[in-house]
Amino acid sequence: MNFASQRAGWSRLPLSAAAFVVLTCVAILGVSGWREWAARDQVLKGAETEMANVARSLTQHAEDSLDLLDYGVVGVVSRLEIDGTNPDTIAKLRSLFDARKTAMDRVHSLAVIDDRGNSLTSPGTIGSTFSDNAFFRYHELSQKRDAHVGHPVKSLLDGEWVVTLSRRFNKPDGSFGGVVLATISSKYLSHFYEQFEIGRNSSVSVMYSDGIIIARNPSNDRFVGRSVADTQLFRDQNLQRPSGAFHFTSPLDGAERVSFFKRSARYPLVLLATVDKDELLAPWRSAAISRMLYVLALVILIAIIGSVLVRQLQRGQHMAAALIEKEAHFRLLAESSSDMVTRIGLDQRLRYVSPSSIRVVGWRANQLIGTEALAGIHPEDRPHVQAIIDAMKHGDAEEARVTYRNVHRQKSEVWLESTMRVTRKDNGSVDGVVAISRDITEQKKLETRLETLAIEDGLTGLANRRRFDERLKEEWARAYRDRTSLGLLMIDVDHFKAYNDEYGHPAGDACLRVVAKIIADEVQRIGDLAARYGGEEFAMLLPNTDAAGCARIGERIRSAVHDAGLLHASNPAGACVTVSVGGAACRPALERTAGTGSLVEAADRALYAAKDAGRNRLMMSGEVMTLMARASGQ
Ligand code: GH3
Ligand code: MG
Ligand code: MG
Repeated sequence: MNFASQRAGWSRLPLSAAAFVVLTCVAILGVSGWREWAARDQVLKGAETEMANVARSLTQHAEDSLDLLDYGVVGVVSRLEIDGTNPDTIAKLRSLFDARKTAMDRVHSLAVIDDRGNSLTSPGTIGSTFSDNAFFRYHELSQKRDAHVGHPVKSLLDGEWVVTLSRRFNKPDGSFGGVVLATISSKYLSHFYEQFEIGRNSSVSVMYSDGIIIARNPSNDRFVGRSVADTQLFRDQNLQRPSGAFHFTSPLDGAERVSFFKRSARYPLVLLATVDKDELLAPWRSAAISRMLYVLALVILIAIIGSVLVRQLQRGQHMAAALIEKEAHFRLLAESSSDMVTRIGLDQRLRYVSPSSIRVVGWRANQLIGTEALAGIHPEDRPHVQAIIDAMKHGDAEEARVTYRNVHRQKSEVWLESTMRVTRKDNGSVDGVVAISRDITEQKKLETRLETLAIEDGLTGLANRRRFDERLKEEWARAYRDRTSLGLLMIDVDHFKAYNDEYGHPAGDACLRVVAKIIADEVQRIGDLAARYGGEEFAMLLPNTDAAGCARIGERIRSAVHDAGLLHASNPAGACVTVSVGGAACRPALERTAGTGSLVEAADRALYAAKDAGRNRLMMSGEVMTLMARASGQ
């Protein structure tokens, strides 16, 4: 996986986590909502079942009541048809009716009505006629002998709303003889329904099949006799079945109701039990609201925790990306650098080595990681480097630069320069050292070369004039301190101009190199210095040497040059190359006013004296003084 695709994968992660949190919240809300809705359905279904039971049992009650009336009516009809309507029979029937009414509270009235519509049994209704009543006209016109349940009407007896059940009786000739009438009062039914506690804003009604209300609980008086024929129950084709549940908005009070209706199979009656939906659902609603509040609180908590986690995930990703980028930059720098980058642990082993190690020390990084960090350092340099690293580990130094020799796998040795810096943990304690090392072998060589060039004569390899002057001063000071003697020889090739002229300049150079070699070979002590003083003139500085010692060495040089036998045909001092040597020695501590110049001057004077004396000879400064004194004495 590359860096970019890794980043893309990461940035999708918080998005997925956020989506997961949202999904979880939505799922919890969805499931809870669905469960509440199912619980609501359950409540409504339960109410429908309850209403169905009420409607069924009250229908049964209404049918039983009418049946009970009908038994009585049937008996009276048969008696009238056998015994006729003579006053005796009527009187017996009247007392029977009174007994029945007392025994059965549901019987409102019983009456025998003759063929003209006059009541034969009810003294309260004598004088009034039933001839206009629907039930009367029905029996008058219909030959049917079965029971007829009529519209609710107001009783002629007491003005109460009643339901009529009536049968026709015939005269012995088969013509219409009259009607036996029994009634149930609306009030009785309404009282009976009061026993059923189905809620405050609920109702039970019994209606005639065309929508006239026969009885209702509650508020019977207000509703009895009203028609609800234009309501859904009577108009909706889907509801024209024997029984069923349905929900509707009451046209009477505008409340939503859950109801169950039952149509009687035997009588033209419809029973309707209703319960107020709001009232029914109130307990569910309050429980559901409190449950949903808990769920909502839980969801909010999940959402808050989720968003915190998502934010942390995002922050973590940013940090990880920044770290990787930093690491990538560091690796790029470390691995593309020509310098070798190493990380040294507290155990002094290499933890990280950059690939350029192959160039710097000849080993691959994986060959070095885990090895002793100072193993390759030259034994002479190691203590110094070790001391620096120890100081850094102990927190005494933050950074350091050190130059040392190190083994190289192919070359024998390289010079390395390391810049080191302490690395620390987050808590500030030192956990190692980072070193950037570069190969400075070439630079070192150059330095040495420059140093040599600065003090060496290019032609002869002896010390140059600058070096000679420096050493002269140093040795003068030392001799002064130590109260020792310092000797100096000045050596000049004889007739060298002539040599050049004869053999050419390059041959002259070669000759100078040979003479220089002879002089250098005469250097016996470490402190002695052979130098090219200028042109074909050399000097030999001899610390801790008196005039005798000086003379001895000067003489050896002179004879060695001569004995080398370098051909110099035009040299009058012999056919070979010769040198004249002037020597001087002094004790600087005794020569209070003199300096280095006086020693050079003395040796120079001796040299010229040697030239004057015929060349190829040594002359000491003391001899020069004697000669001068002798000459001035003559
Ligand atoms: P004398 O015996 O008095 O010293 O005579 P000389 O000819 O040696 O002295 P002079 O000072 O007249 O000449 C020195 C000559 O040395 C002149 C110069 O050409 C030659 N010379 C100086 N330096 C070099 C050098 O580096 N290479 C060569 N080939 N010749 C040099
Ligand atoms: Mg010369
Ligand atoms: Mg000279």
